[in-house]
Amino acid sequence: MIKYQPVIGLEVHVELKTDSKMFCACSADHFAKKPNTQVCPVCLGLPGALPVPNEKAIEWTQKLGAALGCKLAIDSQFDRKHYFYPDLPKGYQISQYQHPLAEGGKFQSVNITRVHLEEDTGKLMHQKVGDKNVSLIDFNRSGVPLVEIVTDPDFSSASGAKSFARDLQQTVRHLGVSDADMEKGSMRLEANISVGDKSQATSDKLPNYKVELKNINSFRFMEAAINYEIERQEKVLENGESLIQETRGYDEKTKITKPQRTKEEAQDYRYFPEPDIPPLSFSNTQLEKVKSGVSELPQGKRESLVAEHKIPEMYAAVLTRTEELSDYFSEAVKIGDKHGLVAKKIADFLVNKKTDIKKVSPEGLVKMIKGDGEKSSLSDKHLEKAVEDVVGKNKGAVADYKAGKEVALKFLVGQVMAKTKGQANPRKVQDLLSKKLNE
Ligand code: ZN
Ligand code: MN
Repeated sequence: MIKYQPVIGLEVHVELKTDSKMFCACSADHFAKKPNTQVCPVCLGLPGALPVPNEKAIEWTQKLGAALGCKLAIDSQFDRKHYFYPDLPKGYQISQYQHPLAEGGKFQSVNITRVHLEEDTGKLMHQKVGDKNVSLIDFNRSGVPLVEIVTDPDFSSASGAKSFARDLQQTVRHLGVSDADMEKGSMRLEANISVGDKSQATSDKLPNYKVELKNINSFRFMEAAINYEIERQEKVLENGESLIQETRGYDEKTKITKPQRTKEEAQDYRYFPEPDIPPLSFSNTQLEKVKSGVSELPQGKRESLVAEHKIPEMYAAVLTRTEELSDYFSEAVKIGDKHGLVAKKIADFLVNKKTDIKKVSPEGLVKMIKGDGEKSSLSDKHLEKAVEDVVGKNKGAVADYKAGKEVALKFLVGQVMAKTKGQANPRKVQDLLSKKLNE
């Protein structure tokens, strides 16, 4: 019998890929840029600088909130969240507390507590300069729009949390609001974990503590860190000891979690409404417009692709990775249908031949697949033979060309293309023809 019940919630931060930062006009694209080159008085937190909210960031946060099934707020506001850390120049972060942009959603049967918008902090870099260890600060990231997605503590396993995070990443990318790249830090995961003692539980009451796990930069590490933490907590309880509310970091090398600090209570942040930004208010029409802008999510699309086109689940998963690719596939299926090409063949080709969809049009792809067999048989020899035949049979056009009529060459190219059923490369045909005619 299982004695302990893990209780897990997630907090996910996602950097929006807007052009400019959250409250100023500096570029938000900060990755691998020369430190402190994309800064201004606002994002450096200089006294007297006034923040102006980024409209696109607000709209994108609402879009994500809607995609996660949340209710979008009519009235919302920014709040100051106070704490001291070197990467936070103002001494507070502009975030949202009482009235987030979106609340109360459901995604993959997990309850979404809230989706709010805030600003990212600067970045500390610990380096060795000469023989000294120094900490440097890069403020390029300071003020980049950051969305925080908080779930209810609905997960009971590390694998459940991992698959949710994966789907969330895919959704964020699908909406085109963030790269959600864990390696670059544009998607960052935190997990809250506690373990309930089933034998003592009288109701569905949650444990009276939670451990917050930070420093997780891959799905795999998240799974490992949560599993480690569940085991650690169970052992503590097994020994008759109790657990404390704290923040722990995961060490990828030793594969264990280590205490970082005891967790502040919410009131320690001294939240209060941001006095420099007026409260936000939205009309129902505005919110409806945002909602209608959310196209079918990848998970739903995945299922409908499988059902509609009888393609394997695995193919559907690949084809719905980006909206661009899934749109491309749908288009190719439509065209393929007219040419008696089944969707599975197209899916197979796209998934296994790693086609560059930026270079080949859906029509071109269908042609490529249909001509796949013929094309390989269209050797240079065949092509030369076709050129010879065309030249032999179109004496008039050949004479015209030799008399200086360039347009005759185009006609001859067309004849060769027709003869090779469009499989030949027109440039190559033209080269071969002019060579032959100038002999
Ligand atoms: Zn700035
Ligand atoms: Mn946050």
